Amino acid sequence: MEAGASEREAAGMTSRVPALIVHGGAGADPADALDELRIGIREAVASGWQVLADGGTALDAVEAAVRTLEAHPRFNAGRGAVLNRDGGVELDASIMEGDRLRSGAVGAVSRILHPVTLARRILEDGRQILLVGEGALAFAREQGLPECDPAELITDRQLKRWQAARTGSTVGAVALDRHGTIAAATSSGGVPAKLPGRVGDSALIGCGTYAESTLGGLSCTGNGEAIIRVVLARRGLEILKALDNPEYAALVTVDVLTEEGRGDGGVILVDWRGRTAFARSTPFMPVGWMNPSHRAPVVPF
Ligand code: ASP
Repeated sequence: MEAGASEREAAGMTSRVPALIVHGGAGADPADALDELRIGIREAVASGWQVLADGGTALDAVEAAVRTLEAHPRFNAGRGAVLNRDGGVELDASIMEGDRLRSGAVGAVSRILHPVTLARRILEDGRQILLVGEGALAFAREQGLPECDPAELITDRQLKRWQAARTGSTVGAVALDRHGTIAAATSSGGVPAKLPGRVGDSALIGCGTYAESTLGGLSCTGNGEAIIRVVLARRGLEILKALDNPEYAALVTVDVLTEEGRGDGGVILVDWRGRTAFARSTPFMPVGWMNPSHRAPVVPF
């Protein structure tokens, strides 16, 4: 039987070196205001890192990092999400902790600025894993989460991009905390001009998001249908287990996406030792990471 965080603590197996990695989507446009993307990623890493540095949990850290990017209008999550065929916003998100494989997810929700927090509430509630559409909104109301006017999620920029049918930049985060727990979260507006009701990989545990504390955690981005086809996040963990080399595992995982899934995208991961890695098949994917050997978030673009 695997030990959870509290069992590990009771056995004196604590004080792991924390780590966090964040992505801003494999569909990000390198010609797009890079400064704004850089600031957003740096803020997201800083907010998640604050949680870990204070001794908080990986779950709280990935939720904090993703919330920062959901509120940032340049990323395809929360405010700033891409628009569907009918010009509306429908958001997907998922979150998972790798000790007991607890998870929560939402698909095709509107009127919620922070779908990752709604996914977290579903995880904590524990009865179900995935709620969609109106049912997810009803649960959000029960939980007292604030609802917003759908128009608040639509930025002028996304309205223009929708008119031009351009893609966006999903967000995700993976963290290891001092207790040895790994968590991962992903949040997305999906793909531009998608059919209303379409749910992508970002809402599906095993596809866009997966965490298992004894192995690692992943967040995926890119062509959601391709990611679903190969169950990429879970698949990436199997690859990590076989290779025990995070950078190589990230590359092979993206190869699986392109060759078997027949789509493009990227992944970020943290392994159980706190090693971070990422890979992509697209021209650009903003990433940032942090561990105690750095004085400030590393944002290499
Ligand atoms: N994977 C997301 C989706 O297909 C989109 C993205 O990552 O940009 O919904």
